Amino acid sequence: MYTIILGAPGAGKGTQADILSQEMNLPHIASGDLFRQALEARAEFGLLAKSYMDKGELVPDEITIRMILERIDQSDCDSGSLLDGFPRTLHQAEVLDQALGKQGKSIDKAIYIEVPSEELVKRLSGRRLCRTCQTPYHIVNSPPKTPDRCDKCAGELYQRSDDREETVRNRLNIFFAQTLPILDYYKKQGKLIKVNGNQGIQDVTREMLSALKHQCQPEQSGEPLRFPSTGSGRASVAEFTLSEAKALPQNDIRGERRQNKW
Ligand code: ADP
Ligand code: ADP
Ligand code: ZN
Repeated sequence: MYTIILGAPGAGKGTQADILSQEMNLPHIASGDLFRQALEARAEFGLLAKSYMDKGELVPDEITIRMILERIDQSDCDSGSLLDGFPRTLHQAEVLDQALGKQGKSIDKAIYIEVPSEELVKRLSGRRLCRTCQTPYHIVNSPPKTPDRCDKCAGELYQRSDDREETVRNRLNIFFAQTLPILDYYKKQGKLIKVNGNQGIQDVTREMLSALKHQCQPEQSGEPLRFPSTGSGRASVAEFTLSEAKALPQNDIRGERRQNKW
């Protein structure tokens, strides 16, 4: 099962993908993490990517696509993966479909985590990441048990340089201009599911799991989505609504790990 997690910077893609990856027993593949790891390893494409990431711009498709296709070609992704941060352009989405299609595979669902812009800015400015395992924390919303240390691996927490306010604005604008239109691509394929990301972390997880497990009715492909024409920085995608997912009991979220039935 190949599932795409879509959302603006700060929407909670990494947070949710981490949890779902354990729940669904699938690898979490995050394009941003792969770039940061490549940079740490001083790989040439990591250094090249950094020049774009520092400005909050998208890394060119050619580099990004090659990196992701090589990653999902590894054997741990044979039965699927959770893609976080990729695709971010229509071209990336099309190439991904073609590449999976050649192997007789396809994307099952694209889940869009919707969060208002003001909240995104607050989340990004308080975000801290583990230098070792990349787990995201938030100084207010999701603090570590020990200050500046990762709960999972005791790694050091740091603030991403592109989470500074100037860069954040640029990243949000780029998201609304270049990435949001791909929602329509998945909607036309009948694969798009929208969840409310403006609620607690566990509630978002519950909604996402519920949508996936109950094979929630994806957004209908008839009417195309309408996007703000002015680049106001606010997505008015209110006209596509998720059929209300039945709430799962709390202990279903962090219950015993189940066999991979995805
Ligand atoms: P993304 O991968 O979409 O950029 P992250 O998962 O890194 O987003 O989350 C961005 C920040 O917001 C992190 O600091 C994270 O701890 C916090 N966060 C994630 N989900 C929520 C939520 N539902 N409510 C409040 N804060 C959240
Ligand atoms: P966030 O979690 O805030 O959404 P990411 O960690 O996913 O950010 O990405 C950080 C940066 O890496 C992006 O601003 C962009 O420069 C680059 N990047 C990540 N994924 C892609 C992609 N699919 N296409 C192009 N650039 C990407
Ligand atoms: Zn860690």
